[in-house]
Amino acid sequence: MDATPPPALAAPGSPSPLEDTRSADYLQWALAAADMGTWDWDAHTDLVTACPRTCALWGLGPGPHRWSDMLRQVHPDDRDLTVTRVREAMENRRDYAAEYRVRLPDGSERWISARGRTRGDDAAPSRMHGVVCDVTARKEHDARLERLVREAQECTEELRAVLDSAPIAIWIAHDPECRRITGNAHAEQVLLHVPPHANVSLSAPLAERRGDFSVWRDDRQLAADELPAQRVTRTGEPVRDELLEFRFADGRRVHVLQSAVPLHDRFGRVRGAVAVSADITSLFQAEELLKSEARQLEQLVQQRTASLQESLAEMEAFSYNISHDMRAPLRAMHSFARFLDQEYGSLLPAQGRDYLARILAASARMDRLIQDVLVYSRAARTELKPDRVNLARLVRTMFDAYPHLREAAADFAIADDLPVVLGNDAALLQCFANIVGNALKFVAPGQRAVVQIWAEIAGGRARVFVRDRGIGIPPAAQPHIFDMFYRVNPSYEGSGIGLAVTRKSIERMGGTIGVVSEPGRGSTFHFDLPLAP
Ligand code: ADP
Repeated sequence: MDATPPPALAAPGSPSPLEDTRSADYLQWALAAADMGTWDWDAHTDLVTACPRTCALWGLGPGPHRWSDMLRQVHPDDRDLTVTRVREAMENRRDYAAEYRVRLPDGSERWISARGRTRGDDAAPSRMHGVVCDVTARKEHDARLERLVREAQECTEELRAVLDSAPIAIWIAHDPECRRITGNAHAEQVLLHVPPHANVSLSAPLAERRGDFSVWRDDRQLAADELPAQRVTRTGEPVRDELLEFRFADGRRVHVLQSAVPLHDRFGRVRGAVAVSADITSLFQAEELLKSEARQLEQLVQQRTASLQESLAEMEAFSYNISHDMRAPLRAMHSFARFLDQEYGSLLPAQGRDYLARILAASARMDRLIQDVLVYSRAARTELKPDRVNLARLVRTMFDAYPHLREAAADFAIADDLPVVLGNDAALLQCFANIVGNALKFVAPGQRAVVQIWAEIAGGRARVFVRDRGIGIPPAAQPHIFDMFYRVNPSYEGSGIGLAVTRKSIERMGGTIGVVSEPGRGSTFHFDLPLAP
């Protein structure tokens, strides 16, 4: 190969020598700017005369070189095609164009694009000359692009498969006005019964729209611009879990939970939306069924409660009457025993008088028991009208109503700021009398009773405390002392009804009662009631 510039590719007309030199210069500049090399091949000698750029591209020294030798450098996969292109060009006297990989002496590869034109006899061209350039970068770029396109296609295919196999309806609004909305297979086939890719947008002109349905929310038909996808594209804000009902011309109704999110273009503008609907018809129907059934159950409970209350009232009235009626013969027994004692007691032997005394004591106790039962029955049955009750005044009244409390050998410490509560005066009087009566009663023999009464206020309620320094209550017995007839220590007089009456009354006034106690150190009873407004 020689280092002198190759002859100009085409020289129409007859230029002057000066013009000829200039043209050659221009051509060299243009070829250098385009990073191209030139070559000239003589088919008879098989020699290629190439410029330094072409030789450099092939990794060859200055030529000339044999084309058949150069061909061995062409990648085996590209060799046949390159030869074919050369032959076709020569046979058909056509321009030659080929792209092929060339192996360089250092083992690397380079993509070369070659173009040429035949010369010589019209019938049998004997030469070809042309240009080559390095297209490795473009080829790599093309390959990368091809890979990306293939990946994008695979991604689209996978996404489509996911969309179409999802058991929920998915819609895509393809424009900001939601004029074209298409759905996945579930939306098209299961929900709307429309052909694939049909435009189901209610915002589309009537002629373009498929699917005979309307959308309702809370029993009101929605206009197209009220639908989630349309709202999302308008506001750009997502819509979450909206309960909608699809109503179809054939009477079908489907309840769905629909959410929608906006789609954006590369400038961040809303370009469409995706809406997803989960069919909750069966859930909805089950809930509806449950609601009717719940109503029926409620009615049944009401009926049963009413009839139970009726039976309970009858039972209470019955036991009240029995208890009440039992007192008359009991009183007669007691009175006649007393007459016997008074009028004939002196005639009886000591044993007889002892029996008589036992009859008198037992009948008196029986009468107290019956009276207590009647009190409990009244506490459970009578209406406790709530009223303002001044507890300070109530405690003072207690000592007048129950003089034995005042007369007891005891020390009282009663707070002077007892509040005004909402309760029933008579019932509360009895509660105080029961608790204070116990505080005076349950003291160790010979011990002086101490009773403290105070109240604390919190959250619109008053909590009243009655503390004693008596015998206390064992922990195991504490949960039972408010039960009917429960007594810890029968050696103390009593019926075991007082605290049952007290709890019943407090609870009926909307309060609760409890005790904190330590055997040998005393007990603190407390109950709470609403403060009077
Ligand atoms: P009782 O008629 O026996 O007083 P209550 O119903 O008033 O019946 O009380 C039930 C039982 O609770 C009592 O028998 C007693 O054993 C125990 N009790 C009640 N108050 C006190 C108290 N302040 N100290 C110790 N024990 C008490």
